[in-house]
Amino acid sequence: LTELSFYRNGPFLDMCEGPHVDTTRDIPRDGFKLRSVAGAYWRGDSDNVMMTRIYAWAFGDKETLDLHLDAYEQALLRDHKKLGRELGIYTIDNDIGRGLPLWLPNGTVIRDELEKLAKELEFKANYQRVATPHIARRDLFYQTGHLPYYADGMYPPMELIEEGDDGEQVKEAYVLKPMNCPHHHKIFSSEPRSYRDLPLRLAEYGQVYRFEESGAVGGLMRVRGMNMNDAHIYCSEDQIKSEFRNVMALHDEAYAILGLDNYYIRLSRWDPDDPKGKDKYVDDPKSWETCERLIAELLNEMEVAYVDGPGEAAFYGPKIDMQFPTVTGRDESVSTIQLDFAVPPRLGLCYVGSDGADHVPYCIHRAPFSTHERFVAFLIEHFAGAFPTWLAPVQVRVLTVSNQFTEYGQRVVDKLRARFIRAELGSASDTVSKKIREGTTQKIPNLVVVGEREAQDSTVTLRRYGIEKQETLTLDALERTLVEAIEQRSLELPLS
Ligand SMILES: [Zn+2]
Repeated sequence: LTELSFYRNGPFLDMCEGPHVDTTRDIPRDGFKLRSVAGAYWRGDSDNVMMTRIYAWAFGDKETLDLHLDAYEQALLRDHKKLGRELGIYTIDNDIGRGLPLWLPNGTVIRDELEKLAKELEFKANYQRVATPHIARRDLFYQTGHLPYYADGMYPPMELIEEGDDGEQVKEAYVLKPMNCPHHHKIFSSEPRSYRDLPLRLAEYGQVYRFEESGAVGGLMRVRGMNMNDAHIYCSEDQIKSEFRNVMALHDEAYAILGLDNYYIRLSRWDPDDPKGKDKYVDDPKSWETCERLIAELLNEMEVAYVDGPGEAAFYGPKIDMQFPTVTGRDESVSTIQLDFAVPPRLGLCYVGSDGADHVPYCIHRAPFSTHERFVAFLIEHFAGAFPTWLAPVQVRVLTVSNQFTEYGQRVVDKLRARFIRAELGSASDTVSKKIREGTTQKIPNLVVVGEREAQDSTVTLRRYGIEKQETLTLDALERTLVEAIEQRSLELPLS
């Protein structure tokens, strides 16, 4: 925030972003739309009188209003909370707790498919998988420097008494981990390392917990428990560029598969002139300079356009942010690649260099698929709930024209399921047109209709989501097409 603005209207003084008009007459008759009304106590105090608050949109002309209404409706239709409920993706239960989503069967399919893709990409890029517990001793986070500063972002500690080696009672405190890095750092230092071990790439879909303020918690975007597509790459200074390059290539491959091409890159740097700089950033100007120079050099060598983000760095080093504009006009950081020069030395990480001396590795933190929670929310809005076949919870629903053809319908389902295609038979009652409508509302990518002709010829009639034209093809051809589309993670079924 760089400036404050106030508006006065008669005796009424308001601190407001504005702009204001002198009188409602200045708003064109077709430039505004009433939105909703709500009750509010005067000055927010329930002892005061209740007032009515009228919400409206107002613009200088009708065209701008219409554009705004359009974007708003699009955003509503794509809202992940609405679609998440309608498509059976997740639920929040008060008895479980705020910000702790329960993944329903359909949502779990999406998570599993994303996780499978991430693991394949990471396997090809020579990551090694590890698994770590959800909790750790609180002391660990004092060593990393996260505590005491980050205490507000963590669940309070679990305090307990443990028996020491000679039988005495020892007080211990454990915390839910807000990040996976310290656990991975401990795996790095679990054995002596040499320069021949580097770069060492440790990956895990790691569950973390962050104590977001209750007012901020909502849907899948702001949660308190999340599963992160995490990895930490330990490398020497002369490996930083090539490792960053590899991580960016992995992002490109992953995002191309999902059809996410609408993003730009921000180089988030520290701000040496920030008056609060010493609290906000590790005080090591030389390392900041080296790290920022290396990343900027790499981006220039790769001829990647980026925007400069001074003051947007992490506490422990500069980062690259993948920024996506959303339908509502905000920019969203979907993923970041961070270069950390500060935490490895705090935890005493080291490796023996080719010179025989001890060196501290750099650590690259990255999460192309972010957390399952944020990324699935993002994808629901990106696809407006209509997932491509490989990612869709139900890939094929078979609808029979009448109950006479249930046996054939079941044969189609069985044949597809034998190839691990998520196929199911639609309900036996209802008319076929009602069944088609229902399948379309549920955004199932492939509806297969079978009747007398199909049963006789071993064919099916395929209706793809969002495509007017329907196709008749043999059952074998359907199976082949689906298997291929799923294997290649195509955004569209490869049909004429
Ligand atoms: Zn990390």
